Amino acid sequence: MTFASIIGQQDIKHRLGHALSGNPGHAFLFLGARGTGRSHIAWRFAAALLCQQPDKNGACGQCRSCRYMQQGVHPDYRVLRAREKEKLIPVELVRRSVSADVYLRSQISQRKVYLIALDDLNEQGQNALLKSLEEPPPFVVFLLTASAADRLLPTLLSRAVVMQIGRYTPAEIMEILHERQLDKQESAAFFSRFSHGVPGVAIELAESDWFHELRTDTFRFFEQLSRESRASLLTTGFAFLDQNRPVLDDILQILGSMIRDLMMLAGRFTASQLINEDYADLLRKAADQLSNNKERDWRERLSTAYQAIISARRALSLNGSFEVLACNLILALRKELIYA
Ligand SMILES: [Zn+2]
Repeated sequence: MTFASIIGQQDIKHRLGHALSGNPGHAFLFLGARGTGRSHIAWRFAAALLCQQPDKNGACGQCRSCRYMQQGVHPDYRVLRAREKEKLIPVELVRRSVSADVYLRSQISQRKVYLIALDDLNEQGQNALLKSLEEPPPFVVFLLTASAADRLLPTLLSRAVVMQIGRYTPAEIMEILHERQLDKQESAAFFSRFSHGVPGVAIELAESDWFHELRTDTFRFFEQLSRESRASLLTTGFAFLDQNRPVLDDILQILGSMIRDLMMLAGRFTASQLINEDYADLLRKAADQLSNNKERDWRERLSTAYQAIISARRALSLNGSFEVLACNLILALRKELIYA
């Protein structure tokens, strides 16, 4: 349970170790997108702050405090986040669990630690918290998590040491998948590169049973673009997108990753690894034919196709008409990606 055993995030681990060896300060903000492990890192730091014999790597994992942390029953560790069905932490709960509680002494550790999900607090809730943050008793440490700083009150932000959680490399994500025994499946390497450096996304995809099939179907759709007539594509391709409306954005992201790979292959950027390495043969063949076609430049075609995907994702996020989106996408991709 040391924070030194966290995969990646060297800078944060170094700074946490440093904070622990001196006087840690009373508020830390872990900033990072959902799935970057911000609560996981904060929990390990909390364990170290509460541990009876921590070292620069974090908690000892053996003492009474560490055992309570592992069992999830530490009396000096409080977690405040929205309950499953509610989107926000009620302001009343902030007043009761923090403002009124903060001055009570710790029970078994030297300190008391609050872990608070700021994404679940509205402005009123943040204001209620601010009073405790401004003048906390010396034995209290606040560990805050948030996706982005721009939703937070500047007064609150200025009182915390900010720990920005960076993206993880594909190799680090593979290690995280390995820890959870999710690296055995053939798509594991793909997940590590497709997840944009966010391990939570890779884990979610690796654990899902639908994503693998969706990706197979998306590659089939890609092959149809070259093989079928416009009219037939507007039926079969449209049906494919229509049947998968709830996961349309996932399809668009898979298509985007294929186009990125086609650019790498057509441009002979051999040093850079493909996202869809397991489909390398199919993609290489398509890239060769695109780059051998002298009538139109492959760079222009691939970037136009990529733009069509970005436009479709934008239309989707703005709740644009599905029919218009699907037809535009199919026709644009067919025009640009036809290779055979
Ligand atoms: Zn300990």
